[in-house]
Formats: sequence, structure tokens, C-alpha cells
Amino acid sequence: MRAFTYERAASPVQAAAAAAANPDAKFIAGGTNLLDLMKLEIETPTHLIDVNGLGLDTIEATSEGGLRVGALVRNTDLAADERVRRNYGVLSRAILAGASGQLRNRATTAGNLLQRTRCPYFYDTAQPCNKRQPGSGCSAIGGFSRQLGIVGTSEACIATNPSDMAVGLRVLDATVETMKPDATTRRIAIAEFHRLPGDTPHIETVLERGEFITAVTLPSPVGGKHLYRKVRDRASYAFALVSVAAVIQQDGTGRVAIGGVAHKPWRVEAAEAELPRGAKAASERLLDGAKPSHENAFKVTLVERTLGSVLEEARS
Ligand SMILES: Cc1cc2nc3c(=O)[nH]c(=O)nc-3n(C[C@H](O)[C@H](O)[C@H](O)COP(=O)(O)OP(=O)(O)OC[C@H]3O[C@@H](n4cnc5c(N)ncnc54)[C@H](O)[C@@H]3O)c2cc1C
Ligand code: SF4
Repeated sequence: MRAFTYERAASPVQAAAAAAANPDAKFIAGGTNLLDLMKLEIETPTHLIDVNGLGLDTIEATSEGGLRVGALVRNTDLAADERVRRNYGVLSRAILAGASGQLRNRATTAGNLLQRTRCPYFYDTAQPCNKRQPGSGCSAIGGFSRQLGIVGTSEACIATNPSDMAVGLRVLDATVETMKPDATTRRIAIAEFHRLPGDTPHIETVLERGEFITAVTLPSPVGGKHLYRKVRDRASYAFALVSVAAVIQQDGTGRVAIGGVAHKPWRVEAAEAELPRGAKAASERLLDGAKPSHENAFKVTLVERTLGSVLEEARS
């Protein structure tokens, strides 16, 4: 690991200003992703800004009837919150499908949203990877791509976003709240927060330099049955090959977001009109334009079958 300096942030704006002043600085929250990347020298910040002491660890009701989740709320606490379990079950289930109890005890809401891809070549510093080293090439295209993306991919990168929580937030239409170094704030719809790879796969979100996440807001509850189904190579402690987050109403209408298939949680609102007609019609619209590789073409069928199973469970 490279040497780095360390400070404890005193306020969100001071954290943002410190990060903006040093292009090689990174915020550290739970550290469960960042420290692994630093040990492998995939990320080499020269300065860490510890944001754990900022008190952003509460979940509060909003005047619009939703919930405001502080950026430092641990994944365990968010999944266990009685209001989340009752009204946003899909989020609770998505979080509990990820990582392990120990990791979820440390991992934070903001850190989870910003975790990096699990593409094997991103972790192998001996191989070209446009995301790790812009312009070096993509080893996954034509290489080992079983885990990787099938929609929204580019000639530069076919990686997927590994977060389960983000798929739950996408189906709930959450909003990310941030603070910039000049103390201005903004609200970013989760649909716009993560970027597709295009020709700049190293830029994964719309966050600007120094911009600090303060909270994630959930809108008022939408009712319906909340389901999260994650298909993976092992029963636990594995990232999704495909996951389906769904909120299904009694009349068969609903919302669906898919994980494990794209550089961001994948939701196509137009496809949701097809849900009452069944999984085949809906998944065809969802994956319209998909470009799977020979190694991950099975994901097209897996999305349809997983969605079918979720819809059947919702009806039962
Ligand atoms: C073995 C293992 C298995 C895992 N399995 C899964 C899984 O199945 N599903 C899943 O979803 N996840 C899984 N994870 C990932 C885990 O969920 C993430 O590591 C965790 O959520 C990251 O949160 P953190 O608070 O530790 O982030 P950190 O590691 O502290 O930070 C991650 C990134 O977020 C940035 N950051 C942190 N806070 C802020 C903020 N407030 N504003 C702006 N930037 C910020 C940091 O600078 C860093 O770039 C696994 C991790 C491990 C190690
Ligand atoms: S898919 Fe993306 S992360 Fe993986 S090797 Fe290619 S550029 Fe790197």
C-alpha cells in the first residue's frame, strides 16, 4: 500500500473543500471497498478524509412522507430499520442479499453507492483496463466475461455495477443529496447518478470533484409487494449474476430494476407497461439492444426466468 496522510473531517463542507483542494484525496467511510483497492494499488490516494465523525448516521422522516437516510448510516442499520422493513421491503432485502453481516456492519449508504466494479481485469493490475487506466484497453472484451454486462455497454468497457442496494434504490426512485465545496447542495435522481461507460468508463457517477454525499432520500411509500431475487454462483458472499428488484401491485402493474447486467442499476420504465403480460414481454423490452458476449449470453434467459419467478411469487 502507498503511504498516505489522514485527517478527520469536521463538517460536510470542510470534507468537500478538503477533497476539492487535493486531486489525490479520497473520502473514507466504512473502508470496506476503498482499503481493498488501496492494498492492491488500484486506487492510490495520497490523502484520506475520514467522514465517520460527521453525525450523518440517522434515518429521519421527511415532510413528504418519505425517509432521509444519512450517508453514514450502516447497511445493517438501514436494512433493519422498522420503517424501511415495513414500507421499503425491497431495499431491506436487497441490502441483506449483499456481502456479509460483518461487512454490512461497516459499509455505509454512500460508500455502497460508490463501490467499484468487480470485473476481474479491473483487479488484475497486470492486464489492460480502461476503467483502471484510461486508454489502456479492455481485457474483458473477448476475455473472461461471464460476470459482466449485457446492456448499456460500450467498446471501451462492459463492466457491471456490483451494488445490490443501488438496485433497490433505483426501483424506489430514491434521490442522492450532496454538498459541493462551495457549500451549495444538489439533489440527484438515482436514475441519473450512475453513468454508462461510453468512452470514459473511469467516470462512474455524475459527482463533481470534491462533491460529498450527505444523504439518500426515499419518496413516500408506493405500496405493493416488495421482492428482491439475486442469482449468483454461490448461495452467499457472491456478487449477482443477475438480480431483480420489484414492487408489484395487486393488479399486476409495478416497477422492476435489474442488477448484474449493466454499468448502473438497469430500469426501463417503458418495459414496466408489459409486466401484466408477463416476464417474456417485459424482459424483451428491458433488454432491448442487449449485446451479450458468448460467455454471458445466458444472462438474457436468466433475466427473463428470474423476473418470471418474481412475478409468480408476487401473485402467490
Ligand atoms: C468480500 C466482499 C463481498 C461483498 N459482497 C457484496 C455484495 O454481494 N453486494 C454488494 O452490494 N456489495 C458487496 N460488497 C461491497 C460492499 O457493499 C461495499 O464495500 C460497501 O458497501 C462500501 O461501503 P463503505 O462505507 O465501506 O465504503 P468505502 O470503502 O469507505 O468507500 C467507497 C467509496 O465511496 C467513497 N465515499 C464514501 N463515503 C462517501 C461520501 N459520503 N461522499 C462521497 N464519497 C464517499 C469513498 O471515497 C470510496 O471511493 C462486498 C464487499 C466485500 C469486501
Ligand atoms: S470491462 Fe471495464 S473494468 Fe473490465 S477490463 Fe474492461 S474496461 Fe476494465
